[in-house]
Amino acid sequence: MPDIRPTVGSGSLVLNATYEPLCVVSVRRATILVLSAKAVCVADGDGVLHSARHSLPVPSVVRLTRFVRVPYRTHIGLSRRAIFARDGWRCAYCRGPAETIDHVFPRSRGGRHAWDNVVAACAKCNHSKGDKTPGELGWRLHAAPTAPKGIAWRVLGHRPPDPRWADWLDLRDVEAA
Ligand SMILES: [Zn+2]
Repeated sequence: MPDIRPTVGSGSLVLNATYEPLCVVSVRRATILVLSAKAVCVADGDGVLHSARHSLPVPSVVRLTRFVRVPYRTHIGLSRRAIFARDGWRCAYCRGPAETIDHVFPRSRGGRHAWDNVVAACAKCNHSKGDKTPGELGWRLHAAPTAPKGIAWRVLGHRPPDPRWADWLDLRDVEAA
């Protein structure tokens, strides 16, 4: 097994046998898939992995040799990092750097914890807003919050995309992040 340093690359994109993007795994996991002939490397990353017997380019994109059926996941998990990524780490009210999550219609008044009711916000706006709605304060949202869409979001989540993956993933969906 090659000596795989954790500093090599941020991950490898895994494609189904049909070239459909499936997920991102560690470089180590992708290398094991290639060495066990479960996948072939279709795009090299930076650097080369060495072992006593092998010398292998770091896999940036691998394709499974056998088709796997994957349940289609339409729902994107609502995590703090995913909200910041969707909103580009900017406050929905003043566009300054965001460090908190705000419920547009306040939770204290029954607002839901859902993609269409959460936005990234700076601490100052969040504090001034308190348990009021933007309408009550005369504030405007930069954009109406919605759940992120697109295959790139499903595959990457909040991960920063590797530009080498652009042939397989439409990275325009996630560029705002
Ligand atoms: Zn703000």
